[in-house]
Amino acid sequence: MPKKNKQKRSLYQFEMLEDSIAIQKHTPETNHQESTNRVSCKKFLSQFNEPIKALNKKEYPHHNRILAFAHSLCDLVVEKAKDKLAILKMKAACEAGCDACCYYTDMDATGIEFEEIIRYIHKDMPEATKQILLKQVQEEPDLKTHGQKPCPFLIRSQGCCGIYPVRPVGCRSLLATKRCRLDVEEDTGLQTTVTLIQQAWQEMPVRAGALMVLQEQARKGKGHANINQNFSEFLVKFEQLENIKLEQLFASDDPGE
Ligand code: SF4
Ligand code: SF4
Repeated sequence: MPKKNKQKRSLYQFEMLEDSIAIQKHTPETNHQESTNRVSCKKFLSQFNEPIKALNKKEYPHHNRILAFAHSLCDLVVEKAKDKLAILKMKAACEAGCDACCYYTDMDATGIEFEEIIRYIHKDMPEATKQILLKQVQEEPDLKTHGQKPCPFLIRSQGCCGIYPVRPVGCRSLLATKRCRLDVEEDTGLQTTVTLIQQAWQEMPVRAGALMVLQEQARKGKGHANINQNFSEFLVKFEQLENIKLEQLFASDDPGE
């Protein structure tokens, strides 16, 4: 019987970004523990099937349920960090409408996260939000506030995130103890919260980065991967997304599929 001509599936479903300068290749560091930290991708990921099934689909509407789980762990870690802050008699200053970090962070997402962001924009983002984001990039493509360029997914007039349910780990992990301002550089407690968040990750069954790396490797047909390789092979830098790509993304229903 002739062999079926298998069509090669791309690692990520975002053809529209293939030639974008926003995609950056990350070369993961290898270390001497590599061989001892290798696990079977499928077997390792399958141990989380039950908590993944139990995830609330309204809170985590992701098509990629492993990513939804990674993001839920990240949110849990932030809650734990807030509890630790309370013990130190401090509290988080972050609240709805507070958006300075969406200007100063120069955020990025892993390939797997960005694939989910594209799917969310096409399938779940309210039409009104898409229109706002489109208008922003068409009418004020190079807008800066205090020298900082806003994230293209920020709804500028409302100070809120247009992709909130699927925002990447970097955004989910930001926690300040003093409200950040763009016009004043000051200590907003980020160092403290970064340490608390790192401590909270130690209490988790797995790191979000490891879940993404194992999924990437499994997609590439690799049976095993290093559980300690915490970084994805590709990062998408939001600030470098070309305006023309953003327009395509917000204007069309399914350009990348
Ligand atoms: S990190 Fe800073 S700007 Fe961002 S939500 Fe928290 S306090 Fe606001
Ligand atoms: S993705 Fe959302 S939360 Fe993250 S920087 Fe952009 S607007 Fe802010």
